[in-house]
Amino acid sequence: MTTEARHHPLYTPVPVPLAPHGSGPRTAPPPRPAPAPGPAPAPVLRLAPRRLQDGILGGAGAVALLWGVQARPSARLDAFFATGAHLTGLLAGYGVLVLLLLMARVPAIEHGVGADRLARWHSRGGRYTLGLIAAHTVLALCGYAVHTRTDLVTATGDLLSYGAIAAAVAGTLLLAAVGITSARAVRGRLRHETWRAVHLGALLAAALGFVHQLAGPDIAGGLLTRWLWSMAHATVAVLLVWYRLVVPARAALRHDLRVSEVRDEAPGVVSVLVRGRGVARLRAEPGQFFRWRFLSRGLWATALPFSLSAPVRDDTLRITVKVRGDHTRRVRRLRPGTRVLAAGPFGAFTAHRRTRRKVLLLAGGVGITPLRALFETMPGGPGDMTLLYRASDEGGLVLRAELEAIARERKAALHYLLGPSDGSYDPLAPRALRALVPDLAAHDVYLCGPPAMARAATASLRRAGVPASRIHAENFEEQAP
Ligand SMILES: Cc1cc2nc3c(=O)[nH]c(=O)nc-3n(C[C@H](O)[C@H](O)[C@H](O)COP(=O)(O)OP(=O)(O)OC[C@H]3O[C@@H](n4cnc5c(N)ncnc54)[C@H](O)[C@@H]3O)c2cc1C
Repeated sequence: MTTEARHHPLYTPVPVPLAPHGSGPRTAPPPRPAPAPGPAPAPVLRLAPRRLQDGILGGAGAVALLWGVQARPSARLDAFFATGAHLTGLLAGYGVLVLLLLMARVPAIEHGVGADRLARWHSRGGRYTLGLIAAHTVLALCGYAVHTRTDLVTATGDLLSYGAIAAAVAGTLLLAAVGITSARAVRGRLRHETWRAVHLGALLAAALGFVHQLAGPDIAGGLLTRWLWSMAHATVAVLLVWYRLVVPARAALRHDLRVSEVRDEAPGVVSVLVRGRGVARLRAEPGQFFRWRFLSRGLWATALPFSLSAPVRDDTLRITVKVRGDHTRRVRRLRPGTRVLAAGPFGAFTAHRRTRRKVLLLAGGVGITPLRALFETMPGGPGDMTLLYRASDEGGLVLRAELEAIARERKAALHYLLGPSDGSYDPLAPRALRALVPDLAAHDVYLCGPPAMARAATASLRRAGVPASRIHAENFEEQAP
């Protein structure tokens, strides 16, 4: 610990003394999850982010090739506009398909890439796709106007008289609405439900765009292209229906989840225990989250994402929720027996990302929830695990007794970093982190906390020599439609 840390009045790292093995903590250590009976389950499939990225780029390359083999070189201006419109149109159609695939909640993609990264890719891809649609519209209009020697207004009127083009325009308007409501300035003023409802319009937009593409020369030109394009769309549609509707409905019938207990953890923070049949078959891993729909007044219409704050045991899932707004306030008032629909598990913030023996878990505020579950279950011997928990004061520490019990049981280090975030001493500065975790650069780091804290911690860790590939973060603010 640095001298500044020791003398700073507001900063109080609290190391938890390690008890001799077997001497027993003050609180009983949480039991280890029992091994599942029966034959070993099939391994969880995970698609690595790089693989998915390569696949998406490869698909874009194939689409460009499809355009390339059909393009006829010409020095004429209208042909130049038309050929540019074809390329941007094909890539935009492909872009919409990729955007839908990223949000289809395919388990191998969710577990390998992670929901927060998928949401980021989806949002960046959405901007590129809208740009391509805008370019396609302008190029197509100019091409038509030059070809027919008319002005742009007349060209627009003429083109709108074609059914497939009118469909594409309607689709474009829907996608533009999705883009506008997702812009940071607008998104912050909208309720999550409104934003999500507008996003549903993208499904109709994709269908209208598909009608337009089938009528266009690039796709309509050949039987094989038409078949391949249709198959790609049908596959994504089936994945969407299967993983977003059928799988959650089947899980609801199979597991019959209900709230079994709501427990106060700290002011404004509760744990909700949800019990069901055969919950182990959901194969939820510590660090993952579900989207929870509680069938009670004011909550049934929305699915809220919450991480598991403990490993699954005794057919029970546990979440720990901090009150932030209307929905989380209602979660606090849930009654035992309330039915629950839980979609998931989702997320790649799990032990499979680990590459080193030593692991640092770095939590801020309610970001402790997935880390609490990982702290208990990640394999490791004495001294391999360190948990740093940042909060403004002791009142902000949740699940404290459990964390201390796990630390003692596992001979793991646990430090609380208390103090205001705008204080003169920064407990997340590289020097302070190195003082608490001397061989920091040899660790994998799992990080979950408020965005500002996560950004500052990531920058510090990088400066302290931890490569970006070994910083694994979960972001509670990254929203997926
Ligand atoms: C992967 C993930 C795991 C999370 N785990 C936890 C956890 O373990 N404990 C915890 O306390 N919080 C967790 N959160 C945050 C939690 O989901 C939000 O704080 C909660 O949904 C806010 O609900 P509200 O309506 O009461 O608050 P509001 O004040 O209405 O919203 C607060 C923020 O949450 C967003 N939000 C609201 N509803 C949803 C929704 N249905 N889906 C996504 N975002 C929404 C809003 O857009 C806003 O940014 C997690 C979030 C994510 C994305």
